[in-house]
Amino acid sequence: MHWADVVAKELMDRGQKQLISTGITPSGFIHVGSLREAITAQAVFKALKQKNADAKLIYLVDSFDPLRKRYPFLPESYESEVGKPIALIPCPCGQHKSYAEHFILPFLQSIEELGIRPEIHWTHQHYEQGDFASATDTIIQKKEMVANILREVTGRDVPPDFFPYSPLCPKCGRLSNGKILGYEFPYVRYTCHCGEEGKADIRKAEGKLPWRLEWAAKWKILGVTCEPFGKDHAAAGGSYDTGVRFAKEVLINEPPYPIPYEFVQLKGKGQMHKSTGVAVTGVDALRMTPAPVLNYNFLRYNPDRHIDYDSGLGILDVVDEYDRVEKMYYEGGVDEKEKDLLRAYEIGQPDGPRGHIPLQIPYRHLVSVVQIADSFDGVLALLKRTEHLAEVEQKDVELLRQRVECVRFWLANFAPDEVKCTICQEMPKVELTDADINFLRCAYTSLQSLDWSGDKIHDSVYESAKSCAIGAKGGFQVLYRIFIDRKQGPRLGYFLSTLDKEFVLRRIEEAIKAAS
Ligand SMILES: [Zn+2]
Ligand SMILES: [Zn+2]
Repeated sequence: MHWADVVAKELMDRGQKQLISTGITPSGFIHVGSLREAITAQAVFKALKQKNADAKLIYLVDSFDPLRKRYPFLPESYESEVGKPIALIPCPCGQHKSYAEHFILPFLQSIEELGIRPEIHWTHQHYEQGDFASATDTIIQKKEMVANILREVTGRDVPPDFFPYSPLCPKCGRLSNGKILGYEFPYVRYTCHCGEEGKADIRKAEGKLPWRLEWAAKWKILGVTCEPFGKDHAAAGGSYDTGVRFAKEVLINEPPYPIPYEFVQLKGKGQMHKSTGVAVTGVDALRMTPAPVLNYNFLRYNPDRHIDYDSGLGILDVVDEYDRVEKMYYEGGVDEKEKDLLRAYEIGQPDGPRGHIPLQIPYRHLVSVVQIADSFDGVLALLKRTEHLAEVEQKDVELLRQRVECVRFWLANFAPDEVKCTICQEMPKVELTDADINFLRCAYTSLQSLDWSGDKIHDSVYESAKSCAIGAKGGFQVLYRIFIDRKQGPRLGYFLSTLDKEFVLRRIEEAIKAAS
């Protein structure tokens, strides 16, 4: 059984009403790993819905967390914003209501494309509405118990003046770690580092719980029954362990079913972008990986397996693998141990699976077509010719458009040079040996009478090269050199099939003439 179905079944043994929670503190550009959390939550939510559970998915934006430091991508003026809640810091571009919105909105838009449409919650609003008041009061009343749990679970010292609430100072705008003078519901009296003395009303957004306690409080306030989180939180003595005890002993609430997930490791062109401080953002990943493929790539592994996200050539393998599973999904031929892959494919379809297999164009082929045709219509026309497509139905056109956009973004930002190619409109200056020429003659004759399709061109070139002294690899190289002035390039048969047959034959002829 697919892991999402296993989790859904275990949840339903506990009860029909389920609330899956996922979220993030949007303190900067959001790493591709955060997509895994959202996709994991969505998968369980979908599996529950299919079993007719009363399930809900929420996305909790931790907008009341303070900005921890001025990140390198922020202008110097943000130095003075450090320590303030990100919902109350201005947005860097001037187009959003807050710093928090600036970073989370593009991400939420991206996950919508993946079919993830949760109910959005903002932590700062829950504070404003007084939703945290009762839990905060309980936590402050039981602060000795809270301190003991922290000591026991984390093994760390807790200072004698520990107080589980940070007032928000109206004078300096920071979540204050000054001195707490006293508490009497609903007020926490304090002095701030800036010298301000005041009282914070716990029924309003005038202060905040420390994050480990806030997490447990949110479970209770929102009724969370299941939550995926990074494995760092799941470590012994980590925040899930403290959360469980805060929930059970302090707030008298059942903690949610945990889904700890492993991290996503980046491969390929993984260098940091200076502008974002993140190598591949979640938004990047979605702009270069077609949405259902991205879903599939994360869903095919158990959450406790690590995933490599390869923004280089690996992305081509992932799409090929997706297409292979898609074919099995519609045409059968799957063996027992691959059954979960079909389910990963199915759950990963943003709008559910189609009634029949979608149009499949090999992704590698698309990579060269996109570089030859300059517009989407050009791509479509070229494919119609080379793939002998008659009519392409609207849903396939949309699918193709999504793939073409991903390929373009990938080529512009992440693709390694070896897949990039520009056709030399004029014969490039290349030195050819007698063996090369001999092969070109063979290839010319055999291509001349050929049906112009990728597979047939590939086979024909391969046979010609093998029958000449040059060998298969040498033959392919000669052709790359005379068409793109490089020693390697996209899959040759497909690549040549996208070019006009006359053009190809003429170029080979020119090469033979130039050398003799
Ligand atoms: Zn903005
Ligand atoms: Zn202050």
